[in-house]
Amino acid sequence: MTSPLIDRLRSLLPPDAVVTEPDALAPGGQDMSRSAPSGVAAVLVRPRTTEQVAEVLRTADELQVPVVPQGARSGLVGAAAAMEGAVLLDLSRMDRILRIDAVDGVAVVQPGVVIADLQRAAAAQGLFYAPDPASADRATVGGTIATNAGGMRCVKYGVTRDAVRSLEVVLADGTVVRTRPATAKGVAGLDLTSLIVGSEGVLAVVTEATLALLPAPGPSRAVAGTFRTVADAIAAAGTIAAGPRLPSTLEFLDGVALRGVRIVLPEIPLPADATAWLIAVTDVREGAEEDLESFAAAFRDHGAITVARAEDPHAVEDLFAARRALNPALTAVRGGATHGDLAVPRSQLPALVEGAAEIQSRLGVEISLAGHVGDGNLHPTIVFDPSDAAEAAAARQAEGELLALAQTLGGTVAGEHGIGTLKLDAIAGELAPRILELQHGVKAVFDPKGILNPGRKLGGI
Ligand SMILES: Cc1cc2nc3c(=O)[nH]c(=O)nc-3n(C[C@H](O)[C@H](O)[C@H](O)COP(=O)(O)OP(=O)(O)OC[C@H]3O[C@@H](n4cnc5c(N)ncnc54)[C@H](O)[C@@H]3O)c2cc1C
Repeated sequence: MTSPLIDRLRSLLPPDAVVTEPDALAPGGQDMSRSAPSGVAAVLVRPRTTEQVAEVLRTADELQVPVVPQGARSGLVGAAAAMEGAVLLDLSRMDRILRIDAVDGVAVVQPGVVIADLQRAAAAQGLFYAPDPASADRATVGGTIATNAGGMRCVKYGVTRDAVRSLEVVLADGTVVRTRPATAKGVAGLDLTSLIVGSEGVLAVVTEATLALLPAPGPSRAVAGTFRTVADAIAAAGTIAAGPRLPSTLEFLDGVALRGVRIVLPEIPLPADATAWLIAVTDVREGAEEDLESFAAAFRDHGAITVARAEDPHAVEDLFAARRALNPALTAVRGGATHGDLAVPRSQLPALVEGAAEIQSRLGVEISLAGHVGDGNLHPTIVFDPSDAAEAAAARQAEGELLALAQTLGGTVAGEHGIGTLKLDAIAGELAPRILELQHGVKAVFDPKGILNPGRKLGGI
């Protein structure tokens, strides 16, 4: 296949970096939402250097062709799905860890480095990369920066943005810039690093990142428990989160999720009357015993049926198995499951639970509210029978009502997975018209011709 775009790219990049065969292009079409709108791209490019990324963007900018940056395509909102006639810019071959520096407490990495590989490389030097999305064995540094990914440890360590010191990015016209010095502190000018983090590829392409590393924490220990009611478990989580002993992970499963866990992991002992499950992990080097005692006391004070302790990381993983099985468990309940990602202020979690129960009984659907309870970031999931059109329609309606409920409670429709295309309709419910106008203005400054992931994240160009 030839076209001015493809001829130009072939003249600028190594032969194996430009892919046009439809069979090779097709797998790059979707992300893990598997339901986002997508089109047939013109070409897939696989650069290995920043200069090659710059050549691609210069060409696309000149020919006014859309560019879709892609990491591992583990995203859940369609932000990396293919677009009709676009250049798919696959950054996964830029996968080198360039430097790990204990004195500065940083890792300098290319965008295609997989998060689990970075975590392992840091650990080998007694250091710790804190961001830990559940997709860590697949998701890339570039993708997690562009989505400001969260995960299991945010209650203590924050989100990806908190670990980003400085970025090398390629702008839409092919200019290569570094956002700021990689110092731990620094307030010169506006904070464009933070602006690019979470921008879902609509402002710039990340080609190198300087990421903060921490001293390795102590071995994980945990308390997990079961409860008769969701309200009890949420109350226990609230007591722990508001207390002086901060867990590194505080996760929750509700009754629908536990039904699924009983199907996929029947060997896990769960009392018959348990409709909620909570785990609180500590990773402190000193005071772990006091942490565990205080977490267990909160569990008991809020009526836990069972309270179990894990004294080392292997035992923690065993306790955590129920949480890790969440997605297959929810699918096992009725065959189909929506993907939710809301966040509310923690104080509003009881109201979210009540509101979801009202939606559930009014629409006759089943809603699971499992997730990162320590951050107020739950993954409400409606389980449904995909072969039943009425059930599927009710699930979609419930999904929309849950988004609106979160916004009514001062929360957001996108805690950590992003907006992409799937949540575009909902953003006006939480961003004032003037704020949205400012954001479109920022997009136009970065990308006046609108070639970078157009229409995603903000809508419009
Ligand atoms: C099983 C599973 C578990 C998950 N768990 C979590 C979780 O715990 N927390 C969480 O936050 N998310 C989670 N996710 C969602 C997903 O893994 C994250 O959104 C992740 O950050 C995406 O990384 P990626 O490399 O796959 O990026 P992609 O999906 O390829 O891309 C995501 C976005 O980043 C942009 N992008 C990619 N690379 C670059 C770059 N170099 N420069 C500029 N833009 C770029 C893309 O254009 C797109 O907008 C999960 C997904 C799955 C399937």
